Amino acid sequence: MPLLVMKFGGTSVADLARIENAAQKVMREVERGYDVVVIVSAMAGRTNELVGWVNQTSPFYDAREYDAVVSSGENVTAGLMALRLQELGVPARSWQGWQVPILTTSQHSAARFVDIPRANIDAKFAEGMKVAVVAGFQGLSPENRITTLGRGGSDTTAVAFAAAFGAERCDIYTDVDGVYTTDPRITAKARKLDRISFEEMLELASLGAKVLQTRSVELAMRYKVRLRVLSSFEETDETSGTLVCDEDEIMESKVVSGVAYSRDEAKITLVTVEDRPGIAAAIFGPLAEAGVNVDMIVQNISERDYEDHPGAVTDMTFSCPIDQVDRARRAVEAARQAGTIAYEDLIVDTDVAKVSVVGIGMRSHAGVAARMFRALADENINIKVIGTSEIKISVLVDRKYMELAVQTLHDAFELEKAG
Ligand code: ADP
Ligand code: ASP
Ligand code: MG
Repeated sequence: MPLLVMKFGGTSVADLARIENAAQKVMREVERGYDVVVIVSAMAGRTNELVGWVNQTSPFYDAREYDAVVSSGENVTAGLMALRLQELGVPARSWQGWQVPILTTSQHSAARFVDIPRANIDAKFAEGMKVAVVAGFQGLSPENRITTLGRGGSDTTAVAFAAAFGAERCDIYTDVDGVYTTDPRITAKARKLDRISFEEMLELASLGAKVLQTRSVELAMRYKVRLRVLSSFEETDETSGTLVCDEDEIMESKVVSGVAYSRDEAKITLVTVEDRPGIAAAIFGPLAEAGVNVDMIVQNISERDYEDHPGAVTDMTFSCPIDQVDRARRAVEAARQAGTIAYEDLIVDTDVAKVSVVGIGMRSHAGVAARMFRALADENINIKVIGTSEIKISVLVDRKYMELAVQTLHDAFELEKAG
């Protein structure tokens, strides 16, 4: 039997009517002759609510219990989806992660797949089950505890199942009808792409475009999964949505193909640290141990002197997600108390956002940075930190300019026009 993976995100299973709508879509694929693995998210808003409860109960929580709580939203939708399919006459069964079992590492709230043995689900398909409804976002650690895969992780569950079961395609049903040149909520000029390369999608996702979880794109690229993003609210067929595929399957040739943003960033500066070998390691080691995801890093020569060593000082600036600021501050202050680093001041700016342009064309075209910086300057948007890689340029700006920066760059690179 050919097999499809169909994933429904939070807004697509937000209430019973939407679960019914999703079940209808699954039934149609079964009628076309497919066995289906359905991956479901929690109902919209549910995971946030669970995270909130954990934080209120225990601010520096035990990650194992965090995962036990926040994974539960998916269990509800998996059961409801299986029931709805049964009501439609489709033989369906729900599976929580441990029942499959979905084996992961023990990095709680950021676990990675180790293995997805097929035997249990295949045995049920052999008995006539047509649809396996699997709770997304969760797995089982070697210590036999429930793990989760990080926010947005159901996308990754879907791709991992597509790889494990040799699915013909992995369809990600969501509340937009595909991947756009930027978040269509930020500008009406955003244009839907028929295709996007794995590499560009990977950058866009890791730079904040939450339409796909970064890890899902990585897995799809590695295991050559045909990955598609499409709307759960519209009638769709084989040609709908956006296909994420290899670069050489794409005709479009724009230098920049998308703009991404990440709203919840923070910038932290250690003012006047010693400029000596090992200082970066002494700062970023403790941050890594504390689980802080450091993103951009800038080291400047400080204007000020360190004790009696004129010039031998530097300022170290880095960015991290805003909800990790307290953790970062604690790690840095502990290192200072332990005497492994010294600094005069710690400045935290929690009003920044990151805006990035992405395109594989950047590899062979100069001038993208200049054009980007000019466009931002023309709108009087100050750039606080710059970061680049082969196919992206990112800037940190004041959060109040984030939308304007996205719109400005979308215009500057003429992304509303097909290239
Ligand atoms: P789901 O709950 O289905 O997983 P998400 O909210 O995680 O859905 O992702 C879909 C959202 O991603 C869209 O509603 C859209 O606002 C946002 N988004 C951000 N960047 C893009 C982009 N480039 N193309 C499409 N959607 C995007
Ligand atoms: N429910 C989880 C989240 O909100 C996983 C997902 O929806 O992909 O992050
Ligand atoms: Mg999502």
